[in-house]
Amino acid sequence: MTAVTELRGVGPRLAERLAKLGIHRVEDLLFHLPLRYQDRTRVVPLGTLQPGMEALVEGEIDHVEVVVRRRRALLVHVSDGTGRLLLRFFHFSRAQQEGLARKGRIRCFGEARRGPACLEIVHPEYSLLDRQAAMTRVEESLHPIYPTTEGISQKVWFNLTTQALERLDTLPDLLPEALAAAHGLPTLHDALRLVHRPPPDIPPSALIEGRHPAQRRLAFEELLAHHLSLARLRRQKRAIAAPPLAGSPELEQGFLETLPFALTGAQQRVCEEIRADLARPRPMLRLVQGDVGSGKTVVAALAALRAVGSGFQAAVMAPTEILAEQHFLKFDEWFSPLGLRVAWLSGSQKAAQRREQMALLADGQAHIAVGTHALFQDEVAFRNLALVIIDEQHRFGVHQRMALRDKGAGADRQPHQLIMTATPIPRTLAMTAYADLDLSVIDELPPGRTPVRTVAIPDSRRAEVVERVARACAEGRQAYWVCTLIEDSEALQCEAAEATWASLTEALPGVRVGLVHGRMKAAEKEAVMQSFKKGDLDLLVATTVIEVGVDVPNASLMVIENAERLGLSQLHQLRGRVGRGSVESACVLMYHPPLSDTARQRLDALRRTTDGFEIARIDLELRGPGEVLGTRQTGSLQFRIADLERDADLVPDIHRAARHLAEADPDCAQALIDRWLGEAEAYGQVG
Ligand code: ADP
Ligand code: MG
Repeated sequence: MTAVTELRGVGPRLAERLAKLGIHRVEDLLFHLPLRYQDRTRVVPLGTLQPGMEALVEGEIDHVEVVVRRRRALLVHVSDGTGRLLLRFFHFSRAQQEGLARKGRIRCFGEARRGPACLEIVHPEYSLLDRQAAMTRVEESLHPIYPTTEGISQKVWFNLTTQALERLDTLPDLLPEALAAAHGLPTLHDALRLVHRPPPDIPPSALIEGRHPAQRRLAFEELLAHHLSLARLRRQKRAIAAPPLAGSPELEQGFLETLPFALTGAQQRVCEEIRADLARPRPMLRLVQGDVGSGKTVVAALAALRAVGSGFQAAVMAPTEILAEQHFLKFDEWFSPLGLRVAWLSGSQKAAQRREQMALLADGQAHIAVGTHALFQDEVAFRNLALVIIDEQHRFGVHQRMALRDKGAGADRQPHQLIMTATPIPRTLAMTAYADLDLSVIDELPPGRTPVRTVAIPDSRRAEVVERVARACAEGRQAYWVCTLIEDSEALQCEAAEATWASLTEALPGVRVGLVHGRMKAAEKEAVMQSFKKGDLDLLVATTVIEVGVDVPNASLMVIENAERLGLSQLHQLRGRVGRGSVESACVLMYHPPLSDTARQRLDALRRTTDGFEIARIDLELRGPGEVLGTRQTGSLQFRIADLERDADLVPDIHRAARHLAEADPDCAQALIDRWLGEAEAYGQVG
């Protein structure tokens, strides 16, 4: 098929940006599928608007003002006779301000959230309506929202996919006809057309929930491609060598003696499984699942010592700067007394320091490297890397992981690989998601933990929750306040967190309130996290960036706003940030009523149990229509359209189909892999 540069409007700059996403051909564009849909087909009366709803609304501008708190903000008060709405702008031009100050009718689109006085939309898209025009048209069908990256707007995606769809005829349908027919699936062309440009006559709900046959058709093909690719990787793996690691029992014994605790039975068992793998001349590929707080770090440390004790190096990677630094400090504290050197590599460190750390790794003076993705950049060379440990792996997709591993070795030799995740994945899903890995489970928590007390409270009682935070802080304890927003835009997430920060700062004089969100520079984030850790801050307002791994034992209260819109496992992860010290901890799940049945069951499950596996089991059971919206952003795997939980019923057939296709038509199997996974690692960066 043709190159994207043949399309109208694609110059060298855009082509370069597209290439970064793995989009080179028109075909790649056709498989750049909408992440979700916006419903702009009707104007929602303000009186029926709910927090969390993304909606098109319309009203009269009553009043416009500029207020200055932490930042200057333009506030626009709107009403429509059924209710009121506040529009909040942090960035605005004079022209914009003047335009809005002329009042009149306004139409906007955005996500409503609870504000101090009434519902608010932060930075809505808006247009001022002509007073005379009786009715301004709304859109006829659902509006696709594409995954994107810096510098490519939704408008551009729309334009590009429109042109690509005009050339759909040349795209081959790779799925054997009999297979599609057996599942009642539409043709590839029909499926793609519908998913990119939903016609006005289909009910929006099926599409929004991802259950339309067109979406199932594409999900089927995508899962099939993943299966084919994993099967191929498994075959390749059998042919690769890795250094067998016998380790040094004295070194490991010495380390265990310095620990203030004994390993739990589960930790011991998992360490044994890892040791057995490492002793073999084939690369270990093992996933360790252990609930938050189950003590995965010590297990990782022992694996690293096994490599070092055999005269090799080990590398430990975490997905965020905060987590990686935490590991570095821990490993350094543990290993320096043993005479071992730990190097530190992160994207934000100064060039000179980085060079110095890299030199230590290259000549073998450093035994262990800890860092972020920076570890796997080309210029980082190890003297003899034998083990790669990746923590909190659910942030990376299977194929990204493969790419990372390849950086550690020559073509015929690979390091062992250990992956640690706190996401308890039910077996049925693990089979697909981690088909290439062996599995170990730490199914026991260290003794002496007091379980976190969890309550669910409607947000009408927000004032009580704020009061509770005030009390906890007055008693010298620390608290988290997590803001959520379904909006894809990280910018809006962060602005929502800023608004919450501002209102809590106002409501809680005497409490030192910090703010951390994804848009802050790494160093800024780090500074705030460090102050919170040191106790210089009492309350930390955060987006879900604190989800993974942060360890602040004095924090004993966790408030999660709009808890009803997060998935069970994400809530469980967040809750795992507290209950790490000896004081009794509490988690407040604030929700906006009325709760849907499944949302209620989810919150109930959290109140009932703190067992991550039990929660994962309930999660899978509860997932039903209507609950899937939003999981694409929080889900554990990066598929374009498939959702392992939603599409679980397809998996057995896909297993069969993959086996058959790999034998009967290897060329077709290869074409499917290329189509869906051509540049899987680049795709993982999207969004
Ligand atoms: P996670 O599995 O979430 O990464 P960590 O490795 O951070 O958990 O461990 C959580 C806490 O439990 C740490 O403070 C750690 O020192 C402690 N810990 C780990 N193993 C044990 C054990 N066997 N007994 C007591 N405390 C332990
Ligand atoms: Mg951890």
